[in-house]
Amino acid sequence: MATFVCPGSFDPITNGHYDIILRALVHCDNLIVAVGDNKAKKSFFTLEEKIMLLNKVFMDYKSIKIESFTGLTEEFARSKNATALVRGLRALSDFEFEFQMALLNRKLNPNLETLFIMTNADYSYISSAAVRELLLNNGDITGMVPDCIKNDIISLCEEKRIGNR
Ligand code: ADP
Repeated sequence: MATFVCPGSFDPITNGHYDIILRALVHCDNLIVAVGDNKAKKSFFTLEEKIMLLNKVFMDYKSIKIESFTGLTEEFARSKNATALVRGLRALSDFEFEFQMALLNRKLNPNLETLFIMTNADYSYISSAAVRELLLNNGDITGMVPDCIKNDIISLCEEKRIGNR
């Protein structure tokens, strides 16, 4: 039984993430979408909101589990007996960071492989940061995030705006 871990911030999940996760699922038995709970990295959506959105998106997939983790990704993957980490690659700019992380994780655990999946050309320009920027400026996020959570994301953002007034 191969378990893969797909770690990330998912702040919020986009169609870019969604595509990578479903393409990775074909190559394993179980896939854990692992939301990093990194106190040093300020996130726009709360951990609970990010998890709620992911659970809604992958509701129909029994082999996908949504979990959160603190600390090292490698330790989390080890605790789940995962054989691989899955990361998406968009542009050359992603490469340097991903290359370094992959080598670091291999050093920590030679049995944990990092698998890279090349972005879908249709989603290569999408990032969580771009979605947040659009949300804050009333831009249209249609097609950038899974349709089933589009309205949830817009309402959560609206709640935050009202809260900040
Ligand atoms: P992190 O903060 O760890 O970079 P993200 O949530 O931003 O987490 O991204 C998680 C993973 O998804 C990363 O491997 C990232 O490269 C990948 N990813 C993000 N957006 C896209 C996209 N549009 N196409 C392909 N991969 C993507």
